[in-house]
Amino acid sequence: MSVTNVAGHKLEAASVRTTIQEMKTTQHAPICAYIYDLQALTSHVRQCVQSLPEQSKLFYAIKANSDETILRTLAPLVHGFEVASLGEIIKVRAISKEIPILFGGPGKTEAELQGALEYGVQLIHVESIHELNKLNDLASHKGILVPVLLRVNLKGPLPQATLSMGGRPTQFGIDESLLPQVMERIRDFPHIEVQGFHFHSLSNHLDASQHVKLVQYYCRIAQQWSEQYGIPLRYVNAGGGIGVNYAHLEDQFDWFTFVRELGVLLESELESSTTLLFECGRYLTSSSGYYATEVLDIKSNHATNYAIVRGGTHHFRLPVSWQHSHPFEVIEVEVWPYSYERPQVIDSAITIAGQLCTPKDILAKDVVLPSLRVGDVLLFQYAGAYGWAISHHDFLSHPHPQHIYLN
Ligand SMILES: *Cc1c(COP(=O)(O)O)cnc(C)c1O
Repeated sequence: MSVTNVAGHKLEAASVRTTIQEMKTTQHAPICAYIYDLQALTSHVRQCVQSLPEQSKLFYAIKANSDETILRTLAPLVHGFEVASLGEIIKVRAISKEIPILFGGPGKTEAELQGALEYGVQLIHVESIHELNKLNDLASHKGILVPVLLRVNLKGPLPQATLSMGGRPTQFGIDESLLPQVMERIRDFPHIEVQGFHFHSLSNHLDASQHVKLVQYYCRIAQQWSEQYGIPLRYVNAGGGIGVNYAHLEDQFDWFTFVRELGVLLESELESSTTLLFECGRYLTSSSGYYATEVLDIKSNHATNYAIVRGGTHHFRLPVSWQHSHPFEVIEVEVWPYSYERPQVIDSAITIAGQLCTPKDILAKDVVLPSLRVGDVLLFQYAGAYGWAISHHDFLSHPHPQHIYLN
């Protein structure tokens, strides 16, 4: 099984497989590693950035994977980074003093807002009236004018995706119905300059044409507000949320349809003085990251086959958090240096579990495989976003995986 990238471009992962076979010849301990194909990452992200229409910019939302090597690889490619905490601001500034930063997220503390000003973030996405007050106060002490976008939670209905942050009650942004009140009070905040609006309503959206329609709606409503409230619209931030199809690897988000239709939209609808921002996480780093883990045991329990692998959801929480079977391929390892029997299943459905002492530690369920043996390695694909970054690494105190970067 191969992994597809932008526009179905095949990633054969040959270098990843070779790396695993080499590790098996040199290391006795069971394989457990995140492997990042930096060349694939670079070509994918470069292609995304270069194919975007003029008047739009692509930022990387680092919470998807804020690994230093990933950030260093992406810094020269993307227009900037989107962050959601002071910790993330510091990570970004540790690798670049200049790269533009967008700072969003609910519940920003004074220290974080202060840090944002000191580290020179380009735009702060403000999520509430209280946050406007806080920021205005800090800015007035510094005697500066702070550019912001207002994050708005739209009324909806919005298209369906795996996660929705808007179009329904959530902790994110300013309720669209409260925007008139906020705008009426905006002159109470003389140290804040509203330069536009921010929308991040969905995550893991798979339909390219629908996504363009969503962006079109963002642009229209932002332009309408800009006229209504008399604020020049410098930016519309359409958020992230472009998805990865974990269930059908051959059927990924059609990036080239997306940028083509987006180009038409921008030419006809967006004032040339407005820049459209995207801040994507998953779509940029998912496809070039792999989680490789060795089968430690195979058994049947209540008529269900289980493979237990070295590691589990404390390294790779995405499948359990989304309750999906994560796609993987089997790397057959021929070496078996023991005199005792090698457990295996043939032509059977098998559930892949980790080493944790909880029945929730499942990476994939009832996957039919021609064969699987103890000592084979499972290579989980599309593991480069929301993998290691969202996992509870030290639960049970097993060793961490290796982190390997292929150039
Ligand atoms: C998480 C997040 C993103 C990135 O989302 P993806 O679905 O990974 O593209 C962008 N903007 C905000 C505000 C976020 O919270």
